[in-house]
Amino acid sequence: MKSSILSVGTELLFGQITNTNTTYLSQQLNLLGIDVLSHHTVGDNSNRLFHMIEQTFKDCDLIITTGGLGPTQDDLTKEIACEVLEDELIPHPPSMEKLENYFKKLNRPMTENNWKQAYFPSRATVFPNDVGTAPGFALEKDGKTIICLPGPPREMKYLFENEVKPYLEKMTENVIYYRMLRLFGIGESMLETELLDLIDKQTDPTLATYAKEGECSVRIASKRSTTEEAKAAVDEMIEMVNERVGEYVYSYDDEELYQVVGRKLMERNISISSAESCTGGLFAQTLTQLPGISSVFDRALVTYSNRAKIEELNVNPETLEQYGAVSENTAIEMAEGLKQVTGSQLCISVTGIAGPDGATADKPVGLVYICAILHDQKICKKSLMRSVNRSWNRNYAMLLMLDMINRLLDNKKII
Ligand code: ATP
Ligand code: MG
Repeated sequence: MKSSILSVGTELLFGQITNTNTTYLSQQLNLLGIDVLSHHTVGDNSNRLFHMIEQTFKDCDLIITTGGLGPTQDDLTKEIACEVLEDELIPHPPSMEKLENYFKKLNRPMTENNWKQAYFPSRATVFPNDVGTAPGFALEKDGKTIICLPGPPREMKYLFENEVKPYLEKMTENVIYYRMLRLFGIGESMLETELLDLIDKQTDPTLATYAKEGECSVRIASKRSTTEEAKAAVDEMIEMVNERVGEYVYSYDDEELYQVVGRKLMERNISISSAESCTGGLFAQTLTQLPGISSVFDRALVTYSNRAKIEELNVNPETLEQYGAVSENTAIEMAEGLKQVTGSQLCISVTGIAGPDGATADKPVGLVYICAILHDQKICKKSLMRSVNRSWNRNYAMLLMLDMINRLLDNKKII
């Protein structure tokens, strides 16, 4: 099925709001295996809206609109959709009742134009809106379907998730099953090279790779007549992917690295502290996003200066003098000092050069040392990051820390 997304609203054309609805809908339609051919935006203007819908239906079987379903004069989507697909608006009793109750509950008087929201095309499938006043609907004629949803993102998402998705699944008579693999430590081009033969001959399941901020994802999706069939096909493909790049996979369910690590620490009740130099606390900030992490996370010491490393972590001034703050020796002493101070089961330290300044002939920007102590294991790793910019380096150093912990916890080779 070929689809298009049509956003309605003059505010969008003025650039006053960001079109997040289109991004969301595109992602969702793709997950359902529905091709999205185009995105369009029109203002609150009935002529242009009419022509855009008419024009788009020349290439597409499905249009999803957002916006312009409200009670005011400039909300025209419903009227125009009705015109293009040759239907008429009639009162929809369940919506009338709901609307009346809604206003009663709020103790607000209803104005005449509010009733407009309870009128729908006579052939429409109405999608009740439990989180706002404007219901959505689907209207079909001669194999062309328009689905109109309200503009506010919260309402739009609610309706999509609860009403539109099942509606579309029925329409396509197929189920989509997919898994999103997340990988760390492999670049996108290398990932693609490793999977090239699988990508080249893919039909079903399909395989797509994505890259973001130093991480990669692989989406494996299958569209079959039953969930069991689709799932079996995806599982088989996961095995093939694992044979090639399994050592980099940290999640099969689109989780973030900190979520995976945090969950494992909590499940195994392993206390953790960090001593951070170049990340300035980013590791702690990221890990503590996870609810419940207080059961294992003790503290982060942000020891930026040499003085802090000496005073807080007992790093030997001679080590700093001889090897410098960004060195294996310093990273190790930082982790050891942290262990002494906190007694945490897992102690991790980081020291590096985030840039853009601070590089020397033998210590380039992007150089980072990470040391982790877990029970009787002590591992120190040197990495040279790609060094895109300061914030990227800091973020990547934080990810390297998480990756090291994840590998330690699973007894996997540190790479
Ligand atoms: P309402 O009943 O609230 O008037 P509506 O369906 O008429 O809903 P609009 O009036 O077009 O929707 O938009 C309402 C609000 O929803 C906008 O002010 C904006 O904040 C948000 N919105 C609309 N379209 C989008 C979009 N494409 N992306 C993100 N937000 C949007
Ligand atoms: Mg409106």
